[in-house]
Amino acid sequence: MKRLRIGPAYKLFFLAVVAYVLLVGAARTYDFAVTTADRREVAALAPVLVDKLVVVDAGHGGPDPGVVRDGVREKDITLAVALRLAEYLEQGGARVLLTRDKDCDLADSEPGTKSRKRQDLERRVAIANDNKADVFVSIHVNSFDEANEHGAQTFSQLGCTEGYQLAHAIQDELKTLLRNTDRVAKRGDYFTGRTTKMPAVVVEIGFITNPRECKLLQEPEYQSKVAFAIYAGLVRYFASGAGVVPPLTGE
Ligand SMILES: [Zn+2]
Repeated sequence: MKRLRIGPAYKLFFLAVVAYVLLVGAARTYDFAVTTADRREVAALAPVLVDKLVVVDAGHGGPDPGVVRDGVREKDITLAVALRLAEYLEQGGARVLLTRDKDCDLADSEPGTKSRKRQDLERRVAIANDNKADVFVSIHVNSFDEANEHGAQTFSQLGCTEGYQLAHAIQDELKTLLRNTDRVAKRGDYFTGRTTKMPAVVVEIGFITNPRECKLLQEPEYQSKVAFAIYAGLVRYFASGAGVVPPLTGE
């Protein structure tokens, strides 16, 4: 039988094609998904989640759309990310309470009034306090007058050290996994942070007013990536509390 001989030029071409396919494949994985190494590292620490109760709060909902830009509504993005985060947490072994799992708010007073907003927030906090949750994680989308402002940022309540450590852990993961934010964890004064009896954070997952980020925030793949970063931050926070990993930085 005659063997097919491939000339050196064809071999080189063939190798170049293989290299190209591999490189493009790697670049796609790098850009669009959380790498297997990231997942493995977090999975190894996940046992610290067992018995932890996390309240995941999708900001706004129902008559309150949150910030809106060209028909894109904050309440839809926060719900998608919250549901994804709840899945990651449950898979990791944590117990999860969602303040909402559909397009609604928690109030029953007159829509559009200040008291309705207040009642909505009070009921979200009550879910966490009544069930003695370990942490309260609220998800929101940011907005600003200038379109170039971008990047996810995590906030904690002034004066709460554990809350700041949690915010710091989540912000670190957002930075590492999304690779598009240099923002740092910050303290602020929030109704939810003031009234919850456990560490609470607000994660502003990006700016609806930045056209590029607004587009990304609507993509299910990006939403998953954001949710995974928040999940990874929670895992690290609990692992540090359990002494499994070194204490987190942040005073
Ligand atoms: Zn909001």
